[in-house]
Amino acid sequence: MEQAELRSWEARCTQEEPPRCRAACPLHVDVREFCTRMADGKVDQAWATLCRSLPLPSVMARICDAPCKNACLRGEAGGAVEVGALERACADGASRTPVLPVPPSKGRTATVFGSDMAALTAVWDLSRKGVEVVLYCPCSTAELPSRLYGHVAPELAADLQQHFEKELGTLNRQGVVLHEQDALSAEMVDAAMAEGRAVFIAPDVYHLLHGGDVPPDQVTLGTVRSGVFAAMPLSGPASPVQLAALGRRAAISMDRLFQNASLAAGREREGVFETRLFTNIAKVAPEPPVPVPAEGYSPAQATEEAARCLQCECMECVKNCAYLAEYGSYPKQYTRRIYNNESIVMGTRQANTMINSCMMCGLCASLCPEGFDMGALCLQSRRGMVKRGKMPPSAHEFALRDMQFANGDDCVIASHAPGTSASAWLFFPGCQLTASMPDAVERTWQWLRESLPADKGGVGLLLHCCGAPAHWAGRPDMHAAVVKEVRGRWEKLGSPPIIAACPTCTDMLRKAMPQAVITTLWEVLADTLAASSDNTIYGNTTLPASPVPHGTELVLHDPCNTRDDAALRSAVRTLLAKRSITVKEPELTGEHTECCGFGGLSESANPDLGSKIRDGRAARLSAASGDGPVADAVTYCAMCRDMLAKSGKRIMHLLDLLLPPAEAQARVCCGPRQGALPYAGPAPSYSERRENRIRLRERLVPECQGETARTPAPWENVRVSYTDEARKTMESRRILDSDVRKVLFHMEQGGGWLENVSDSASKGRRLAMFRPTIVTYWVEFTLEGDGAYRVHNTWCHRMRIFPSKQGAA
Ligand code: SF4
Ligand code: SF4
Ligand code: SF4
Repeated sequence: MEQAELRSWEARCTQEEPPRCRAACPLHVDVREFCTRMADGKVDQAWATLCRSLPLPSVMARICDAPCKNACLRGEAGGAVEVGALERACADGASRTPVLPVPPSKGRTATVFGSDMAALTAVWDLSRKGVEVVLYCPCSTAELPSRLYGHVAPELAADLQQHFEKELGTLNRQGVVLHEQDALSAEMVDAAMAEGRAVFIAPDVYHLLHGGDVPPDQVTLGTVRSGVFAAMPLSGPASPVQLAALGRRAAISMDRLFQNASLAAGREREGVFETRLFTNIAKVAPEPPVPVPAEGYSPAQATEEAARCLQCECMECVKNCAYLAEYGSYPKQYTRRIYNNESIVMGTRQANTMINSCMMCGLCASLCPEGFDMGALCLQSRRGMVKRGKMPPSAHEFALRDMQFANGDDCVIASHAPGTSASAWLFFPGCQLTASMPDAVERTWQWLRESLPADKGGVGLLLHCCGAPAHWAGRPDMHAAVVKEVRGRWEKLGSPPIIAACPTCTDMLRKAMPQAVITTLWEVLADTLAASSDNTIYGNTTLPASPVPHGTELVLHDPCNTRDDAALRSAVRTLLAKRSITVKEPELTGEHTECCGFGGLSESANPDLGSKIRDGRAARLSAASGDGPVADAVTYCAMCRDMLAKSGKRIMHLLDLLLPPAEAQARVCCGPRQGALPYAGPAPSYSERRENRIRLRERLVPECQGETARTPAPWENVRVSYTDEARKTMESRRILDSDVRKVLFHMEQGGGWLENVSDSASKGRRLAMFRPTIVTYWVEFTLEGDGAYRVHNTWCHRMRIFPSKQGAA
């Protein structure tokens, strides 16, 4: 990633933008921090926050006209936070004022003319920058207060006097020389200039001292005379804070002048500006402000009022994405981490797991007011890692191997329907549906063949993976190769319109094969069913009876790949309505639906986070029905179903609801599980998924044209059984039954084994190993009497083991 690209990504995330109050405060007081501290009763700390930004804080905190209040977001939920009254309460309650160091003078000198808040702020700020300042005040110090806060109530003004004197003392300590000068004149300005002093003419003496008709520059307050700065009087009512902001602007310009820096550059955000920060208050309950008594807030009232501050921030994406929340920050910071990760030449790349854990589901982009798409950023970064040879092999290796297997001779079928030589449609179930519900794939294909109008031709079948894993893994070349295979087989079958059952395949193929007409199984069904009164499709076949009673309530989980496919989501709802299902929508649904944890190969790279994500989604589905963790749900992606089932969620696939096998209907009507959700069982293991694909192909090959039966590999004949513990470890370590058989077969071929001779519980068990690819597998087993193996445990790693000199390992 180039620097410019980094900046462009960073700029899209507005989390670090100030809240509205701070942007509307001409002095940019950190109101959010101030309110936090006040709400916590930490008055001295809150006072330190104010003192950081306010000139003459003891006075300013009591007389500020608080324009921030008009901008406060709380105003849309009960009433704006009373920041002005809170500042007064803070000033009254603070027990100490932080002493900020004043840098030593470097011979820089300035003269300020005036007696308003602009003049005093310029003096305050300049003296804090180590400038020797002289203030020419057109009145006596005794008259100054009435000029500063003539607008405040008399009783408050009397109280202010002591505070004003305190701040005059501070100015004095900061080296400011104050001259009471009844008659100011233009000659005094000339004299100051002649001495090489920078000059600021405050608004209250502007017309007296500023010669000529050319107004000062609005940004720098510079005048036609170099070194002389001036501010015109405010057009509206006197606002102490607006005046103070003018004084601050002048002080900044004068400081830049001393440093020979550009007077105008980068000053867009001085004074009041529009913030881009978005804060979602949809769930914020209205709450009215604590009324301000004439004597001001008591400490308890101040605490209560400060607690009404919403602590405005965005975090919209982080609040709704377990992956973003996992790494403790937000996309702007993550972008920087990714950039740093890419820049590392030597040493550990800390962000690798973070980059590989994103589900690339697009939820963040759908929620972000600026459309920040973390998935797109992570994909770009993954591609870069692959290109530079820096992608850790463990991240995606299993998923890519699984993809290759699904696209291998053991699984692929590309065929016209039995007895036909052309296809009017092509059914593309996708490799996950095939792995998870092979019987449903068979049923659906048959049902489509019987139902779609026969005069238009048959329905072919293509069992293949769409290439999503390669895309997610950041391997565009590998992805392109898979798409090329799919395209070649589709063209060979006459390029018919594709009916896809899997939302991921639909999305992937539409993007990769724009020349193909791709529709979804659900739209094909919904289009015709919506118009039929007798549940028939194209007037040919009746939809089988529902396996669940009419009126069953189900929470619907939209797969994340349907986010941008409103037509598909609507078709699914039409079908559920046709089935008399009452659909309950979870909190995040439709275009804002959540990923199940499989997307982007997140679970593959970060299994712990994967479980957290799917548990979170399962909990949200349960919350929608208010029926506890086993509340029934339905979805239309096999992978989503299986992932959520792993979290204990009772969830079924829409296919089982629309085209159930006969025994499901029987079970609901008269079996012991009447009323229970059929086909909401556990997810198949990784080994079972492979087995399902192989067996499905074996069953279908006899009726498919041009397809031949596979020849089993010799290791498939190894007879093996597993302990429950072994099955568990195999699943968590992603070790397949085929991996185990290969190890045992290798051993039988002379690969050797080790025997445990210790007195432990494993005494007598043998250990064999084999490295068929880049992974070494270990199998702990005992021999059964009939030559079969009983497997007790399995391991895998990427280290290479070499035989010792004494013999085989
Ligand atoms: S939604 Fe996320 S990425 Fe977008 S501005 Fe907010 S914090 Fe940043
Ligand atoms: S709610 Fe708090 S942070 Fe938000 S604008 Fe108001 S004072 Fe500022
Ligand atoms: S997992 Fe989804 S919502 Fe979370 S950052 Fe990645 S793309 Fe965005």
